[in-house]
Amino acid sequence: MKAPPFAYIKAKTLAEVFQLLETHGDGARLLAGGQSLLAALNLRLSSPEILIDITGIPGLAGIVVANGKVSIGALTTHAEVERSTQIAHTLPLLAQAAPHIAHVAIRNAGTFGGSIALADPAAEWPACCLALDAEFVIAGKDGSRKVRARDFFQALYTTAIGPAEVLTAIEIPVPAGGSRSAFVELTRRRGDYAIVGVAAVANNAQGTLSGVQLAFLGVDQTPVLAKKAMAEVEGKRLSPAVIAAAAQALATDLDPSGDTYSTPATKLHLARVITGRALNALNA
Ligand SMILES: Cc1cc2nc3c(=O)[nH]c(=O)nc-3n(C[C@H](O)[C@H](O)[C@H](O)COP(=O)(O)OP(=O)(O)OC[C@H]3O[C@@H](n4cnc5c(N)ncnc54)[C@H](O)[C@@H]3O)c2cc1C
Repeated sequence: MKAPPFAYIKAKTLAEVFQLLETHGDGARLLAGGQSLLAALNLRLSSPEILIDITGIPGLAGIVVANGKVSIGALTTHAEVERSTQIAHTLPLLAQAAPHIAHVAIRNAGTFGGSIALADPAAEWPACCLALDAEFVIAGKDGSRKVRARDFFQALYTTAIGPAEVLTAIEIPVPAGGSRSAFVELTRRRGDYAIVGVAAVANNAQGTLSGVQLAFLGVDQTPVLAKKAMAEVEGKRLSPAVIAAAAQALATDLDPSGDTYSTPATKLHLARVITGRALNALNA
């Protein structure tokens, strides 16, 4: 199918974007990498009157490490994150997760900010940002504000970004030395969206795990922090009993709905399987 007709403008400044968003309201859509939006238009799932291309606005792309945090511009592509040596050194979880996002061609065009703004519950970056306690910088005509990942993802494809606002950057604290991370997901075919996945982070002090974060994707309407399972592991040395207790606790943390291929029980089972793999990887 072809997209319905729409107007197109390539904005030069954020101020211009805010003005256009105010003028067109729900009839406007921001265009970043286009890897989700253009597919939605072609499938006629969305029919905006105007696309506002933000890719020409200076200052919205790039990775900066300073003052204990990593700032990733919203227009930074998945591939740039994947290939960044700064990311590999400071936030290895992102380097581990990146190859799971679609295919190379999509990673070359799709943006980190686009994935966060879209908030697909089966996407990799939202769960990683939850596990890493990221903050999102959201700009509007009256200035910028920051929202923590745990407050940002509100419902299916719904975030804290207001109708006349733009996500400009993602800020992630650099984990302390001794921090380990693991990203595990299951898909039907390589490059597909996850059936279920987990982004895991913890400090490992001679085998004792602390600061444990387990953020799941593909199990609910938003990414989910598995707080009961995290508590089962916190401050403990990993053992089969600890892994079993964490897996058991997932029945409280997660309430997966089924999809075309997996029942809720299957999804919970798979979440338990990948939790064991992720915890063992944190301990390796
Ligand atoms: C075949 C295929 C497979 C895919 N598989 C995966 C996968 O496995 N995992 C995964 O995570 N993704 C996957 N994707 C999606 C891909 O990662 C997209 O790049 C991403 O979801 C959106 O980024 P984008 O830059 O392309 O955004 P766009 O498509 O341009 O925009 C997406 C939405 O976000 C809004 N938006 C974009 N940028 C901003 C901003 N800065 N501020 C506010 N709103 C903004 C747009 O208005 C639009 O509503 C897949 C896509 C395809 C086509």
